[in-house]
Amino acid sequence: MSSVADKKKATRAGNYFISNYPPFSFWSDDQNAQVEAVYDQPSKEGVPLGLYHHIPFCRRRCHFCYFRVYTDKSADEIKHYLDSTVTELEMMARKPLIEGRKPKFIYFGGGTPSYLSAKQLGELTDRMKAILPWDDAEEVAFECEPGTLNPGKLAAIKDIGVTRLSLGIENFDDHILEINGRAHRSKEVGRAYERAQAEGFDQINIDLISGMIEETEENWQRNIEKTIEYAPDSVTIYQMEIPYNTTIYKEMKDNGKLVAPVADWETKRRWVKEAFAALESAGYTISSGYTAVKNPEKTKFEYRDSLWGGADLLGLGVASFSHAAGVHYQNLTEIDDYTKAIEAGQMPTKRSFRTTEEQRMIREFILQMKLGKVDSSYFDQKFGVDVVNRWSDELEQLTDEGLLNVTDGKILLERDGLLCVDNILHDFFLPEHRTDRIV
Ligand code: SF4
Repeated sequence: MSSVADKKKATRAGNYFISNYPPFSFWSDDQNAQVEAVYDQPSKEGVPLGLYHHIPFCRRRCHFCYFRVYTDKSADEIKHYLDSTVTELEMMARKPLIEGRKPKFIYFGGGTPSYLSAKQLGELTDRMKAILPWDDAEEVAFECEPGTLNPGKLAAIKDIGVTRLSLGIENFDDHILEINGRAHRSKEVGRAYERAQAEGFDQINIDLISGMIEETEENWQRNIEKTIEYAPDSVTIYQMEIPYNTTIYKEMKDNGKLVAPVADWETKRRWVKEAFAALESAGYTISSGYTAVKNPEKTKFEYRDSLWGGADLLGLGVASFSHAAGVHYQNLTEIDDYTKAIEAGQMPTKRSFRTTEEQRMIREFILQMKLGKVDSSYFDQKFGVDVVNRWSDELEQLTDEGLLNVTDGKILLERDGLLCVDNILHDFFLPEHRTDRIV
């Protein structure tokens, strides 16, 4: 169990953010044949389908980045990669699990999707739509690096049907952007935001990170003020973590340091808390441990909410993650291995995990906890499990710590609980999946 004192800790290397369950470290390559088998069965009625497309190219590698990205690929190599993702989609769309379904949500992530040219984007998405039409899609989300956006590119992004444009601003200060290895600068942020607004996207999101290298109290306050001044439809704030495959960790290791050169967890949480409070005063609603939205009626997060409710997700491209009829899997993580597998007509699976019904229930429970509220009747109806009863000890302990409360079958996280939600989720893992918390 967590104690309040435990949470005031220096930032050490390791993953804090929980994006799936069971943890990736339990996935393996010895059962990859099961992924093919699951695609040979038709889908269960009513399960939504989402599409994720991974664009692994960036102008520069940020020092805190832990994704599979390339900064040195030629136009021909990029074309070859995009062709492979279309071939992958063709191959998967013929499988019984996908055939005849239309995606409810589509997500372009990376890397930097906006690294592609307007022409590349138009061609790629025309080909994707010809294979799996997007006319039933309720959301098309697209991640951007501000320095890659010009008016022609933004118009092309709008033309392909993007509804949510997510701007990876992270910080408004040029020195902090530079020292953290970001490619863009504040001038590009201002221009990109203005142009994106002029294009009239349904939703513009701003991403920030609390606790980047050399972040200060004064600068963080300026970030909050600037964000409120921009008044985007939603704001997503992550707390800086230092996974092992980052440049920051490599430097820590080379210098024999255990503590990362960023603020401690208590400070990062306080900064998010202050940002959330300021956003609430400006009329925003906090809709998860990371997100504030201006208009909760209008602003949806279809990708997040469908996925956290058990939707199927077909991930295309190198290192992308999928969830198909209860089986998690990840694609090969090197671009050449990935394209070779596709050329050979094989599924490019690197590792997988077949979940049990109990694990799927836990997965949905912990992911929904990130929204700050869980209704036990949902789990009763879907899985026949009374989650309040099942985790009565854990919930009582967290209630005693002032992190949540339970009333009439509804679990409501207090603000302090929401701000450390990834830390407390470990309490709900099966014993064999529990790993040490890092905070
Ligand atoms: S822009 Fe995003 S994906 Fe690209 S290097 Fe930076 S953090 Fe990684």
